[in-house]
Parts: sequence; structure tokens; C-alpha cells
Amino acid sequence: MSTSAFKLADAPSPNVMPTYGRQNIVFERGEGAWMVATNGDRYLDFASGVAVNALGHAHPKLIAALTEQAHKLWHCSNLYRVAGQERLAERLCSLTFADRVFFCNSGAEACEGAIKVARRYHFANGHPERWRLITFKGAFHGRTIATIAAAGNPKHLEGFGPPADGFDIVPFGDLEAVEKAIGPETAGIMLEPIQGEGGVNVASIAFLKALRELCDKHGLLLVLDEVQSGMGRTGKLFAHEWAGIKPDVMASAKGIGGGFPLGAFMATAEAAKGMTPGTHGSTYGGNPLAVAVGNAVLDAVLEPGFLAHVEAMGLRLKQELARVKDEFPGEVQEVRGLGLLAGIKVTKPVGDLVAACTAEKFLTVSAGDNTMRLLAPLNVAESEISEATQRLTRALRRVSKPS
Ligand SMILES: *Cc1c(COP(=O)(O)O)cnc(C)c1O
Repeated sequence: MSTSAFKLADAPSPNVMPTYGRQNIVFERGEGAWMVATNGDRYLDFASGVAVNALGHAHPKLIAALTEQAHKLWHCSNLYRVAGQERLAERLCSLTFADRVFFCNSGAEACEGAIKVARRYHFANGHPERWRLITFKGAFHGRTIATIAAAGNPKHLEGFGPPADGFDIVPFGDLEAVEKAIGPETAGIMLEPIQGEGGVNVASIAFLKALRELCDKHGLLLVLDEVQSGMGRTGKLFAHEWAGIKPDVMASAKGIGGGFPLGAFMATAEAAKGMTPGTHGSTYGGNPLAVAVGNAVLDAVLEPGFLAHVEAMGLRLKQELARVKDEFPGEVQEVRGLGLLAGIKVTKPVGDLVAACTAEKFLTVSAGDNTMRLLAPLNVAESEISEATQRLTRALRRVSKPS
């Protein structure tokens, strides 16, 4: 059947494996912070494809980068040098703690790679017995067999056999528990500086600094998962910069490709010393199309004033949300986050609020801890923040009405 002859049914096709709780909306196109559904409805998009569309939809520079590359070469495999990879890696290394970058396609793969780097580092040091990572309750690192074990969310683990061994999970923010969990087999500590899926839980600067010190003291690697918090989302290129610390290994994805599947794990030369030829690979990872877009995203994020804009819009949103919280003390329990990674913890079921927002043509994402995430595109306009607040206010009115 040709695509033009395809008629979309009213309900989702049973041929698509039903692993998601999808809303019954089909989007046709996007423009900046807006998406247009097939029925013509316009939605203000503060879901951003779960923090992926960092520059909103249909950004002219990303379209140009993708189409220019599409006319030249899509894919050639990693059997050969890829110029765009070398350029993006050099730029990322000059901007961060890292000396080495491996390109992959997704956040889960980036986290898996980061875990492999940490284990392989100690192996290369003659300590193959040091392979366990300390990880945190409420974490999310992806849906592969290893990353679901790393996060330990029972809902994600159920029915998939015994969780992969090698992760010691402690409460987020509990330094004493981390110290107690360190043993002769510990390779490192892995965490999100801000737990996104877990409900926008921001690690304190003191906690991140203390973890860095613990790692230094015990010869452990500090592994950060900045898949959601990175690429400018908090107003810094990576969220750990707010704490003035440097990780040894870091996973990145989501915003790094601005909507094109791209992930990366990065490490210092020392931490990456076990990653020798043949130790890891990916067929698609960092293919010419992906890194062409990745370089264009980075161009935009590095433009003078871009990160300051994210910070200013984050502050603006925070003020608006504080006002909303005052207006709905019975509904909004807490507002938290950093930059444009914002969360609203509510008292009623968060799904009801997300649905009410959707009814107001305002797209948001639910998260753990009964929290709704607002993930505006990083180039969001101040007027769109105001518009978002108005739609959120109307949605809260809907859910606060006694039924
Ligand atoms: C989304 C996310 C992942 C997983 O990314 P996928 O691309 O879905 O595999 C991992 N870690 C964090 C912090 C994330 O937010």
C-alpha cells in the first residue's frame, strides 16, 4: 500500500506494539514551540518530544544541515572516518571535561556505554573485580536490560527476569548511604544531576561536590547521566557545571540531536583508557546525518546569548509557576527544577492535570512522584511562557473543580 492510500483509523493500530499509553492525537507538523495536529488544532508544545526538540520544531538551520547532508551521504558505517563526528567530538571536548566521545543513537545506549567505560577502566587498571556502580532510587537511565537494573524501578523490571547484577541502589541525595555502599567491588557512582523521569529531583550542589570528593578518595569514577539535563536545558551546556564539578564519564542524548536520533558518551582520557579498538561499537552511531544535525544544534546553543536566554526564560517560568502555586494551594504542592527543566508536584493524580493541559492545547509530560514536567524548547519566547501559564491556569481550574 502506498502511503498516500493509507487511511489512519480512529484508534491506534494494533499492529504497533502497544507499549505506550499514547494520547489519541496525530501531529502533522511543527513550528517552533507549536505543533499542529491533523485536524488543524494548534498545541503549545512544552513536552518537546521529552526534552528532545531543544530548538523547537522545523528550525531552519537544522533543516538546512539535514538536507545539505542528505544530498551528500547518509550512512557509511564506522568502518571509515566520519568528518562530522570528528568535528563534533572536538567541539564537545573543548567545551567540557571530556577528551573522548563515542557516538550512539539514544540515551539508553549512552548510559550503557558509560557503564561499560567505568567497568573497563578498572579492568584496564588491573582491577576487574571493581565493576559495580552505585546508583539511585528514582533514577531513569533507559529501557535496556542493564539500564533498567541500574535504575531499579520495579515497574520497568517486572517480568524481564532477574535484574542484571552490578548495581547498588541507594536513596537519592543520601550521602551516608552512598558511603556505606562503597566496597572493594565498586567501580563508580552514576546519577542524573537532575532526575527527570523520577519527578524533576534536583541534586544539591553540596551533594554533587561530596560525591566528587568520595570518588576521588576511593578511586571511583563519577558517571553523570545528562541525557535530559544537558545540551543547555538548565542554562549551562551541562547541568553539573552549576556545581563547579567535573565528572569522569557522562552520557548525553535527547537534545544533542534536536530531534534526530543521536546520543554520546564522553570521558576523560584517563577514564576512557580501557576503551581500546574492538571494545565497543554501533552500526548507526554518529552517522553523517546525525552528526550534521548534532553540529548544527551545537552551533545554535553556542550562539552568544543563547544559554543566557535559557536561564532568563527558566527564571521567568519559575516566577510564573510560583504565582500559579499561590493561586492553587490545594492543587500545587511544589514547584522545582532548574532552567527549562521544570516540574510541578501536584496533589491530585498528575495524569488528570496532563490531560487537562492537553484539553487546553498545552503539551506537558508526566513524571514520577506525581509531578508534571514542563520542557519548553530552549529558544522559547517570553510570550510563549506567558501563554503556557495561562493554559496551565485554565487546566488547574478544570482539575480543581469538585466533580
Ligand atoms: C530519556 C532518558 C534516558 C533514555 O534515553 P532513550 O533515548 O529513551 O534511550 C536515559 N537517561 C535519562 C536521564 C533520560 O532522561
